[in-house]
Amino acid sequence: MSKCAIVGINWGDEGKGRMVDLLTEKYDYVVRFQGGGNAGHTVVNERGKFALHLLPSGIFRDGVVNILGNGVALDLENLYDEMQTVISQGVDITPANLMISDRASLLLPWHRDLDGLEEARLKDKKFGSTKQGIAPFYSDKYQKKTILAGELFYPEHLKEHLKDLIEWKNLTLTGVYGAEAVKFDDLWAWFEKYGSFFKDFIKNTGKVLKDADKSGKSILFEAQLGSLRDLDYGIHPYTTSSNAIAAYAPVGSGLPSLKLDEVVGVVKAYSTCVGEGPFVCEWFGEEADKLREAGGEYGAKTGRPRRVGPIDIVATRYGVECQGATAIALTKMDVMSYMEKIPVCTKYELNGELTDDFPFPVTLNECKPVIEYMDGWNCDISGIRKWEDLPENARKYVEYIEREIGCHIKYVSLGPSREAYIER
Ligand code: GDP
Repeated sequence: MSKCAIVGINWGDEGKGRMVDLLTEKYDYVVRFQGGGNAGHTVVNERGKFALHLLPSGIFRDGVVNILGNGVALDLENLYDEMQTVISQGVDITPANLMISDRASLLLPWHRDLDGLEEARLKDKKFGSTKQGIAPFYSDKYQKKTILAGELFYPEHLKEHLKDLIEWKNLTLTGVYGAEAVKFDDLWAWFEKYGSFFKDFIKNTGKVLKDADKSGKSILFEAQLGSLRDLDYGIHPYTTSSNAIAAYAPVGSGLPSLKLDEVVGVVKAYSTCVGEGPFVCEWFGEEADKLREAGGEYGAKTGRPRRVGPIDIVATRYGVECQGATAIALTKMDVMSYMEKIPVCTKYELNGELTDDFPFPVTLNECKPVIEYMDGWNCDISGIRKWEDLPENARKYVEYIEREIGCHIKYVSLGPSREAYIER
């Protein structure tokens, strides 16, 4: 399988980073194609525990080239800090193993400021943004009001472009939000600092990938978040501002005509969701606290407690369809070992009728989950490495999900560390 995307099937935080870290062994290139530093992938391997935000998860493997494609929200300031942290943990990051697309747009400090200002204006109607500037960034990108990383190589042009953008952006900052105006000299100092550091990393990565593809190299595309947060197919407006689906991988990576050979969708064995928005199968109270604690469900970027609930078959089946998944990695099965009965949300009830279909987002708040129970396995399964050794009820749970979502579960993850999984 030479070209594979690893994507989230649910609301994000399914354990994609953990799966990319595992599967990078088979790949020469790992590419991030959308999103920014607003989510976090947690990776645990022989080098330690890492919270990655923008760096591709292949950064830990010798010989793997990691690329930040044109579709990402390139926050050089956060990327710089993240690199310093990972380097201080003993990982080499150089222009040989990290490359940045010259066509990636820069997320500037004002995007983060605007994110915070808008959430404050919305008060109790806020979207639950991580305030990393992602929504203002993508709005500007689609208005063609961003600076491409490659413009750093043309300082005279860049100065003029920046002056025009500052004039435009200050209208919003001061006029709409009553905030302070941005001054050219301050922003130019920011460009000089980060521009000089990153210049050697910025390349025509579309050409790098094209050449790699031609010479038969294998490429892994790493998504952020999940189907239900996809800008077009998710729970609008509580989505992210980019496309988290595999179909966007070629566009956001620099190989627009590429056809993927495989799409590995990552599904969590139960549901979690960070931030605002409808979450049909949500648990509250003691039941929720117990699952949250068992799964360590706190945001990698924000530390926010994640909302939790049983697996949602309706949403997961929809997520699998959106991603065109060819195989599934089911993660965190080990977390459910304490449950005597395993709850499953099998259908939604909407206006007195049962449905299997994921409905129009506006109606989600009216949907009620239909919960059925399966027998639990009631023992620690985290050390098991063979399918036959899993307790029968655990195998039944996997086979049930597989049947209901219509996609083969190829990997069952039973712990955060690299080797804690079963391949079927
Ligand atoms: P991502 O954004 O999809 O990569 O997911 P996150 O990193 O935000 O969340 C997944 C969390 O679950 C991380 O802390 C992982 O180390 C952890 N994890 C992943 N797979 C497993 C698993 O099978 N079992 C357990 N117990 N933890 C896991």
